Amino acid sequence: MSGSAAGRIVVVGAGLAGIRAVQALRSQGFTGLIVVFEAASELPCDRPPLSKQILSGEWHASEAPGLLSPVELEDLDLDLRLGRAVRSVDLEAGMVTDDRGERTSYGGLLIATGAHANVMSVFDRAGTYPIRDLGDSIRLRSALGRASRVAIIGAGVLGVEVASAARDLDLAVTLIDVSPAPMASSLGLEMGRRIADLVESNGVSLICGSSVERVELAEREAGASLWLSSGQSLQADVIVSAAGASAATGWLDGSGFEVADGVVCDAYSKAAKGVYACGDVARWMHPEFGSMRAQHWSNAAEQGIAAATNLYLELQGLEHERRPYEPVPYFWSDHFGCRLQAVGHPQVADETVAVKEDENGTLLLVYLLEGRPVAAAGYRCARAIARCKALIPRASNLRALLEGLDMDLPSSAGLSHRQHACRKHEATFGFVDRCAAKLLEREQREIRTRISECGDSLRLDRLQIAALRAEQWKGINRDWSPTRLAPTITHPSAMDDHS
Ligand SMILES: Cc1cc2nc3c(=O)[nH]c(=O)nc-3n(C[C@H](O)[C@H](O)[C@H](O)COP(=O)(O)OP(=O)(O)OC[C@H]3O[C@@H](n4cnc5c(N)ncnc54)[C@H](O)[C@@H]3O)c2cc1C
Repeated sequence: MSGSAAGRIVVVGAGLAGIRAVQALRSQGFTGLIVVFEAASELPCDRPPLSKQILSGEWHASEAPGLLSPVELEDLDLDLRLGRAVRSVDLEAGMVTDDRGERTSYGGLLIATGAHANVMSVFDRAGTYPIRDLGDSIRLRSALGRASRVAIIGAGVLGVEVASAARDLDLAVTLIDVSPAPMASSLGLEMGRRIADLVESNGVSLICGSSVERVELAEREAGASLWLSSGQSLQADVIVSAAGASAATGWLDGSGFEVADGVVCDAYSKAAKGVYACGDVARWMHPEFGSMRAQHWSNAAEQGIAAATNLYLELQGLEHERRPYEPVPYFWSDHFGCRLQAVGHPQVADETVAVKEDENGTLLLVYLLEGRPVAAAGYRCARAIARCKALIPRASNLRALLEGLDMDLPSSAGLSHRQHACRKHEATFGFVDRCAAKLLEREQREIRTRISECGDSLRLDRLQIAALRAEQWKGINRDWSPTRLAPTITHPSAMDDHS
């Protein structure tokens, strides 16, 4: 292909997904011009160490690993435009406009703009520390060095890692989340409870099922007071905002793309003719499990390659050779001296089985959907998790998966029907979050109908939390908190009082 617009590919975002995409284009023989826009003035570093080695001080900031060596960068022969954010796309003309007003035409466009750390509205005026890039990590590290009490909002992967780093510095740490347990929305309650035990046994004060209602900053950086929906209050010198990250799509407003918590793509990661998206910014249609957006290192790397490959095939008129993007996702998190690993799609599971668990902290949970393994997660079981990545797409039931792992069926596999039912209900976290994310009246009605049909107190607890979260997110009843209401609801009809 030539240097004309038709032979030019524009990549927006030079994070992991963008860089893996350009590497894939070159390795597959694309010889045309690749223009890479990156809003930051330097190439971003690899992000995982930012909440681990860099934050804990184990590595100096200058040791933050890059995504490419200088030689690799040169070999890619890019037109790299650092410090240049793209502001809009003209789909019809095949052009992007950057923040200097300069227009650049393209034959193919890759959207790889990642995500921005969420800052809850309650903190609009109060200073909090997000953690997304190297600057954030350096600032937080320095603030922790001056602090004695830290409050972390959000007990997901980042919140738990920051809690671990802060405990290493011997700080008093409070970890707060609206979910019933840490990482419950991604890994379910069974795993969440075990993570809660780990967190608390390392001296962290954990407050779950509660959100921050109000923050008051003291004068001259003398800390802040936080009031929670549970009625508790606490003091902190540093507040860390680890409440997730939103897809960086603002620059696409008005450009004609469908955006719904990510750039909406089809199964090939295609967002429009000649336009593909990858990494944290992309919401694509998984052929089996439906619409999803993943914010993990391995997804950014794999989808970067997949999207670039499909784009290049389309540009060559070989659309029929494109392949749907159907990964077996993988992520890890390091905290309190342990590595948590997860593979597959735990959020779609309806049952969780602990197939291995011992007093040394070894744990392997398998997630099932209608009896079929869809995910596995655990601590100190790296080899089994690696094998699960290959086995999960093929295993039709738990027994087949365990045979592949050379493991026996656990005694829990012989549980009574009632016990199984309980476990199943505990694993309905995916439903909880799906419900909470659907804020329309129609879904509210559906939740209530399902509750009234269900008549099971365990299921009711989960559904009730879902309904409460949906209400909270919608902002129509900010006083509701799962911890406050959970004990009061004993019968499905009780929901009617709160609807
Ligand atoms: C602190 C931290 C720790 C993590 N630890 C783990 C871990 O342990 N395990 C794991 O599996 N995952 C981890 N992750 C997640 C993983 O690192 C991310 O999923 C991955 O980096 C996403 O890559 P990306 O390229 O999609 O997005 P990003 O890395 O966000 O890159 C997007 C780039 O686009 C640029 N950009 C945005 N808008 C524009 C624009 N309009 N014009 C031009 N450029 C633009 C941004 O400046 C940015 O550099 C961690 C993430 C963070 C933040």
